[in-house]
Amino acid sequence: MDHILIMNDAETLEIVALIRRRLAELSAQDLLGQDGQSVVQLDQQSVGRLSRMDALQAQAMAKAQQVRRDTERRGLQAALARVEDGEFGWCEDCGEAIAPGRLRLNPASTRCVSCAAG
Ligand SMILES: [Zn+2]
Repeated sequence: MDHILIMNDAETLEIVALIRRRLAELSAQDLLGQDGQSVVQLDQQSVGRLSRMDALQAQAMAKAQQVRRDTERRGLQAALARVEDGEFGWCEDCGEAIAPGRLRLNPASTRCVSCAAG
């Protein structure tokens, strides 16, 4: 096996730390997003129609961002579970090692570059 192309333990630990940091960031953004949504609700009651539409749009955006965060969080938590199972870093389609650079960029990757492209 080519040790350059395959994740070693130190790299896996580094990615786990990266995933945990990202999860913490997502939680922080969740709190900010909730603040944004409650401000929007106050605005809706106190201002005119145009601002109300702005407020609804902002609220829809906040909800969309929340959905994106939830999706990313699920992907990262699944990645942590794969680390625990010793399955992290292997392509779920072809079974080959996923390039460490790709995993560092997106730890939630479950497929190698060629399978993701194909
Ligand atoms: Zn593959």
